[in-house]
Amino acid sequence: MAVRVIPRAEHPISRKFIDEDALKVLYRLYRSGHTAYLVGGSVRDLLLGRRPKDFDVATSARPSQLKRLFRNCRLIGRRFRLAHIHFNSGKIVEVSTFRREAEGRGEGDLLVTHDNTFGTPEEDARRRDFTVNGLFYDISDFSLHDFVGGVEDVRKGIIRTIGDPNVRFQEDPVRMIRAIKFVAKLGFKVEKITWKALVTHLHHIESAAKPRVHEELARLLECGASAMSLEYLSESGLLAHVEPHLASYLARAEDGHVTDDQDAHLVFRMFDAIDQRVAKGWEIERAILFSVWAYPLVLERGLASLDDPTDMVRTTVEDLAEVLGLSRRDSERVQQLLVAQRKLLPTRRRKGLPRGFYQKSYFADSFLLFELWATASGNEAELDWWKGRIEGAEGGSPGSPAASPGPQPQGEGGRKRRRRGRRRRTPVEQ
Ligand code: ATP
Ligand code: MG
Repeated sequence: MAVRVIPRAEHPISRKFIDEDALKVLYRLYRSGHTAYLVGGSVRDLLLGRRPKDFDVATSARPSQLKRLFRNCRLIGRRFRLAHIHFNSGKIVEVSTFRREAEGRGEGDLLVTHDNTFGTPEEDARRRDFTVNGLFYDISDFSLHDFVGGVEDVRKGIIRTIGDPNVRFQEDPVRMIRAIKFVAKLGFKVEKITWKALVTHLHHIESAAKPRVHEELARLLECGASAMSLEYLSESGLLAHVEPHLASYLARAEDGHVTDDQDAHLVFRMFDAIDQRVAKGWEIERAILFSVWAYPLVLERGLASLDDPTDMVRTTVEDLAEVLGLSRRDSERVQQLLVAQRKLLPTRRRKGLPRGFYQKSYFADSFLLFELWATASGNEAELDWWKGRIEGAEGGSPGSPAASPGPQPQGEGGRKRRRRGRRRRTPVEQ
């Protein structure tokens, strides 16, 4: 495809909305005689009028030249050297030299070659995953360079792989998780052929490198559309290959094969509650996200009723940690937060808590998790009972939710437990 150049007057991206440090990097590269583009998700988000999460730069300058141009530059990465430009604010702008897809690339990082395979801007655009992620904003004249048909797909709201999706999903299966995240987060549809390839190659995710699957899954859960992402993961069948425990729980719940106090939709509503917080600017710790993932599994195994759920929680979470590639630290944190729920869940809490519990380092996070459960399950009264108790007992001491930073619980009090059927939707273009 020939490049389509869209002049500044014909697209809405203004420098006003580009991060000032990213602009400094772009200008310094340009003034030193290099080609420099803003690339990736930031261009897509700016076109959509959304605030980008980060601003990535691609350039003709080689890593050694970057090192000389920027004092605050660190080269990272084994397979391909990227430059991280550090700013005083703590911000990092990622700069990569144009490159092409490494030859014989198999399963991503497993195949480590020590060569940098530099390429042209067009090759750099074509190695990217989806058309909407392959757009370049040129700092020299503020035009957009579209080598892949991304502008049209942003306009239509479509996720389409660059090139043959059968090839692109097989060479890097985490792209399937990314496709799901993008449709959920952006409210897009998956283009038909891309979707067909996705459901054909689901099982390839099992051979992907664990840390990469884990990273993409964590990003999906923190993207602000975790509930819908989980729904699409489930509907596509990808979930069963990514994490069979939750997948089979959801299948059992759908068939009504879970106990009365269980609710197939609980986990979706807990993720909904997380999404509402992310929309307000909260950053939710990954251990909380994976605790929500595990919540229905441990509830089903008697979290609220066992005298001592420690062993049950440990085996359940260790199983999950193995499949999801959770670090030992995260796995232990998830176990700690889940075991603490026993003290808060209704069947147990009548005696109140030992005073020291409020002071524990994990109390605030445990309580947040409980709060997610309470709002998702229509147990706001339980929540209010606890809040009164905590404020009374501690006067809003440090570590108690009353004193924790950030917005306080939404006005969802008294909301009736919703028993609607699960929304059955597949994100496919019609
Ligand atoms: P987000 O807003 O979630 O950060 P993003 O599009 O910026 O989305 P990143 O994971 O930050 O996604 O990656 C930056 C860019 O790198 C992407 O836009 C895409 O062009 C490219 N990219 C990332 N992962 C892959 C991959 N697995 N295969 C091909 N290209 C990728
Ligand atoms: Mg990004």
